[in-house]
Amino acid sequence: MTLGLYVHIPFCRHKCLYCDFPSYAGLERYRDGYVQALCRDIAASPYAGEEADTIYIGGGTPSLLAAGDIDRILKALRQTFRMTSHAEITVEANPDSLDYDKAAALADCGVNRLSLGVQSFSDAMLSFLGRVHTAAQGERAIQAAYDAGIHNLSLDLMYGLPGQTLADVRRDVERLSQLPVVHASIYSLIVEEGTQLKAGLEKGDWQLPPDEATEAMAQTVHDAMHGYGFHHYEISSYAKGPFESRHNSKYWTYEPYIGFGVSAHSFDGKMRWANVANIPAYIQKAGKGSVVSESVAIDAERAVEDYCFLALRRRAGIDYGDYARRFGKAIEDDFGPVIDQLVRQGLLERTAQGCCLSEEGLGYGNYVFSKFIR
Ligand code: SF4
Repeated sequence: MTLGLYVHIPFCRHKCLYCDFPSYAGLERYRDGYVQALCRDIAASPYAGEEADTIYIGGGTPSLLAAGDIDRILKALRQTFRMTSHAEITVEANPDSLDYDKAAALADCGVNRLSLGVQSFSDAMLSFLGRVHTAAQGERAIQAAYDAGIHNLSLDLMYGLPGQTLADVRRDVERLSQLPVVHASIYSLIVEEGTQLKAGLEKGDWQLPPDEATEAMAQTVHDAMHGYGFHHYEISSYAKGPFESRHNSKYWTYEPYIGFGVSAHSFDGKMRWANVANIPAYIQKAGKGSVVSESVAIDAERAVEDYCFLALRRRAGIDYGDYARRFGKAIEDDFGPVIDQLVRQGLLERTAQGCCLSEEGLGYGNYVFSKFIR
């Protein structure tokens, strides 16, 4: 098996209004101990010696770490796993902690892809969201990364935000198109439990745009990105040419990945597991005992369900031949009637290899996925 490797960096300068990721502000004192713990955890991995072809250092805000820390983590991964020669090595960065020198230092460590959390090109919206950077800093960070020699650049944008208009979304995508990025993750806002956003919406402090407005934003994003030469390869992901995210694609194509750090998830084809969420507990246990907090065995029934709904996130959809090779049976035996019904409803369409979400189905992804859970 060829693995994807994920490393979670849980530190942020400030907690954003909408964020429910395992990320924390004000815990900088743990940084050194955490990086050392990561290196111990990596060195002790039961998967040591396996081949890996992607590394993704995500967060949180990995660019808050010094380049030397990222280098230490990458060295630990290279010493533990057999990295392929053209491995994709991504670091997530926020615009306020990435300049030319940092990007150049990361490139020197072997980082060949950066994913920038820009989220919006409106300063008012960034401030509302609790982001600690401006739109101009977002643009400068991307240009700096490009000038430093990292040309596989991705940025994140959000739509469906309180107070946002269709014209705002159009402007954001247009500004994206003027930057040297080859990949974009463009998400519809999800209101998560326990966030400040959720509390404010419940109190009536803000209002989300109506559903029809958010659907129109999704369509605008889709049409504009196509016009700018990006192809839509996953519900929220657009790429130019070959620059699809190889690491994220592993999640959607049922490939194994191993996660390091707090709250990191792993999947080896038979089990899924998650690490402890508590930073001091992780530091204490890493390399000395198990850092896993929960695990679940994937039985045959769960495996086919997971496979289908993950594959349907990709525009390429489900490949019936791959399904038969992996599970030793035809997909029609498991999901024939479900697929027929969704095709009749216009939410799935047949392809040369199998089936995929239709344009209409893109707006009803969760409903379609739920039909594959038995
Ligand atoms: S920077 Fe990212 S991870 Fe950190 S709080 Fe904001 S959204 Fe969450």
